[in-house]
Amino acid sequence: MIQTDEEHKAKKNACRQNPEYKTNKYVIYVTNRLKILSHYSKHVSNSNISCCNCCGENSHVDFLAIDHIAGKNQIDSEPALTELGYSSKLKGKHLINWIIENNYPDGFQILCHNCNVAKGLIGNNNTCTHETMHQEEIFARMEEQSGFEL
Ligand SMILES: [Zn+2]
Ligand SMILES: [Zn+2]
Repeated sequence: MIQTDEEHKAKKNACRQNPEYKTNKYVIYVTNRLKILSHYSKHVSNSNISCCNCCGENSHVDFLAIDHIAGKNQIDSEPALTELGYSSKLKGKHLINWIIENNYPDGFQILCHNCNVAKGLIGNNNTCTHETMHQEEIFARMEEQSGFEL
């Protein structure tokens, strides 16, 4: 039987309207996202629990995001990733599919949305404010200690 374009379209739409079709796609997306979050958290959490690689936030995966470590502009010129077809334009499910297809390449980390936004602020030089605060603390302690020696 020959299908007209209209019939083909109607069939495709009917399939997409099917709640199961949507549910399956959603389940695959969520499962893959969880796999990625847990993979890039392992070196910090030493378990399958996903967490922010900066502050350790792990109360809910909704608070976590996949972060390009090098920052948007630099990562597009990282040959190891661009050779695999990476582009910073990859977002959401496209990024998730790409990471899975390319077997979790280096260059990504998990950050909570707070740390991710702080890292991206102009003037923060791709570093979360937590890190700057931590460094200031170390300097203050060093000053204190050198004060005792004098
Ligand atoms: Zn964080
Ligand atoms: Zn942070």
